[in-house]
Amino acid sequence: MNNEDYFEDRVDNRDLFKDKVDWVLKDSIQEKNFQCGYCGKSVNSSKGITTIIHNDAFIEQHKDIVGVYICPNCNRPTFIDNVFSQTQVPLPKIDNNLQNIPLEVMEVYQEALDAYSVGAFTGTTLLCRKLLMHIAVDLGAKENESFAEYVKFFDEQHYISPRSHNWVDEIRKIGNKANHKLDMNTKEEAEKDLIFCEMILKSNYEYPNEISNKKEPNQ
Ligand SMILES: [Zn+2]
Repeated sequence: MNNEDYFEDRVDNRDLFKDKVDWVLKDSIQEKNFQCGYCGKSVNSSKGITTIIHNDAFIEQHKDIVGVYICPNCNRPTFIDNVFSQTQVPLPKIDNNLQNIPLEVMEVYQEALDAYSVGAFTGTTLLCRKLLMHIAVDLGAKENESFAEYVKFFDEQHYISPRSHNWVDEIRKIGNKANHKLDMNTKEEAEKDLIFCEMILKSNYEYPNEISNKKEPNQ
């Protein structure tokens, strides 16, 4: 399966849900604006399942919505809790439309993005760590080195730009934390890891292949 088929397959699954599923809901609920985690559209929905929350001093301060909202575009449900945990599940996916990444690398990266979108931030950082180790070996680093060695490899071999040097320590710290059995990673740490992976993927796979794909035949 090439990259295009992989994404086609994911889109087909989404359309199937839109075409074949009807939600049985009685009344419209208080409307809510959100960015759908499945189709990425910014939508306004008053279709879904809402809640009644028993009032107390805490609730009074955090008066907002807890409910499941059906996206008017793709018909999939998003859980939104703006009272207890400030959560949306799934969060909007980060879609950077990478086309020239080897499939096995792309699958791990996609899984990291999926983990992020359901709020699994430690999972995201562990997947980014695995991904970065895989990429380092693909770019010529020795196998079975430590994560810190691989991050150093990107820096020393100029797979990241000199001006991005301050990322190196940060990424090493986040990776070490994720691998420690009691420490959980935050949303911000997961986002930093995803940005770093995107930077490595774009500068070492996406952009170089973009040029070679555009070359005329016989040149
Ligand atoms: Zn949607």
